[in-house]
Amino acid sequence: MSAYKVADASGLIKLDAMENPYTWPDDLIDQWLEKLRYCELNRYPDPDAGTLCTTLKQLDRFPENCDILLGNGSDEIIQLLLMALPVNSIVLAPEPTFVMYRQISQVLGLNYQGIPLLENSFELDLEAMLKAIHHFRPAIVFLAFPNNPTGNLFNPDMIDEILIAAPGLVVLDEAYAPFANASFIEKLTGSGNLLVMRTVSKLGLAGLRLGYIVGAPSIIEQLNKIRLPYNINILTQISADFALSNKTLFDEQTRNIRSERARVFKFLDELHQITAFPSAANFILFRTEKEQADPIFSSLKQQGVLIKNTSPQGGRLKDCLRVTIGKPDENNAFMTALQKSLAMHHL
Ligand code: PMP
Repeated sequence: MSAYKVADASGLIKLDAMENPYTWPDDLIDQWLEKLRYCELNRYPDPDAGTLCTTLKQLDRFPENCDILLGNGSDEIIQLLLMALPVNSIVLAPEPTFVMYRQISQVLGLNYQGIPLLENSFELDLEAMLKAIHHFRPAIVFLAFPNNPTGNLFNPDMIDEILIAAPGLVVLDEAYAPFANASFIEKLTGSGNLLVMRTVSKLGLAGLRLGYIVGAPSIIEQLNKIRLPYNINILTQISADFALSNKTLFDEQTRNIRSERARVFKFLDELHQITAFPSAANFILFRTEKEQADPIFSSLKQQGVLIKNTSPQGGRLKDCLRVTIGKPDENNAFMTALQKSLAMHHL
């Protein structure tokens, strides 16, 4: 195995990690610091983060009969879910998808099965998924909605079929919900195998490390047995609660990112050497011509723009690169640099 690598971005325009590029206005920073001034760092934080849970429940309009569990990023929740499974359990996910599902499964000695997405649309291969579910009887299925790194929303009717067929848990990972117009939250009923997981990372609070999962109280109760008691520190609890009470700011930032996504997509789509994949997230995956992902990635970096080279992951991601949507001037820098790289490589 190799550790999850994070590229050094010093001095570069950072368009590699799906972060929100915007910071806060000064008056909001002052209000936030005021909230933190007298927080009791000498005490352990609220083990249940009750205030924050209530804020999140109201904000996302979770059904009353569901419970919520918080994690130190949704990464930690993926780890909790997988730690809850008996040894030798099977974990199923379409591929390519978020790499931590596989990584953590392997660390825990679980049996991870990746089912390839359809070749050109990155849509679920429903027949293959259902076949795998019947064959492997997975304890858990992960579906990122929208998917990372492909950016698309899987067909909700297909997900419904998977929910019916799956004998175990089905986690809808809605990390990119702020940029999509679709969600499975309304399908939560307080019982059943559906869990919806979200994070505040992509919204603009990646540094706080806060993710959450919502579902049937009977399942959340089991996950709570594995969760460490003080996994959400006091600074995160106070800061996230404060930030989320100023949701209009994030909504505005998210709107800007979405309209920039449309502008960058149009640009990529019009380049005949590039195939851009439509995205409901805050990034766009695109395919270069054969063997061009590495040289283009390096050339962009040389020009001061860091994106993500997904080509080394192989499979459907061969020759692909992923760019996170930044501020307009950052996106301009990316587009100019890409045009230069393509010209340099005579593509
Ligand atoms: N799920 C998906 C689909 C992601 O892409 C990411 C971040 N790359 C995460 C979960 C983890 O997010 P965090 O740990 O920051 O909440």
